[in-house]
Amino acid sequence: MLHRISNDLVAEARENDCSVIAFEELTDIRERTGASWGHKWAFDHLYDYVEYKAEEYGIAVEQIDPENTSRRCSHCGFTNLDNRDGEAFECLKCGYANHADYNAAKNIGLRYLRRNQTGGDGGAPLGVRLNSGMLNANGGYSPATTSGQSGSSR
Ligand SMILES: [Zn+2]
Repeated sequence: MLHRISNDLVAEARENDCSVIAFEELTDIRERTGASWGHKWAFDHLYDYVEYKAEEYGIAVEQIDPENTSRRCSHCGFTNLDNRDGEAFECLKCGYANHADYNAAKNIGLRYLRRNQTGGDGGAPLGVRLNSGMLNANGGYSPATTSGQSGSSR
């Protein structure tokens, strides 16, 4: 299963011309999420597989500090413990609502972009690829075009 997921991740990154795959930093993930040792083992191996397979295509894999990414609104930036209720995320300030993991994943991608924004990248387009579209570091959003998409709901 880990091989299949890692293959899908790398394939999607290639389809969308991504140069980097951003992962939540896995250190202390058991303490943060209450994951079992089995889950921790799976996270570590998934990361290793993705890193190994992505390297073949020149795609970097980075780990990002996840502090507050599950409490922060990926739409307006408002951070509050009460934004999240289990798997549901709803911003108390702007009303943005989505699955809590999806919101956190957007924040991981944005944090990677903002961390690297000061570096000269030759003016290459910067954005976070989502299954629904592309999000740039300034919060701008363009919906995905339906052509060329696999139609899967990853
Ligand atoms: Zn918000």
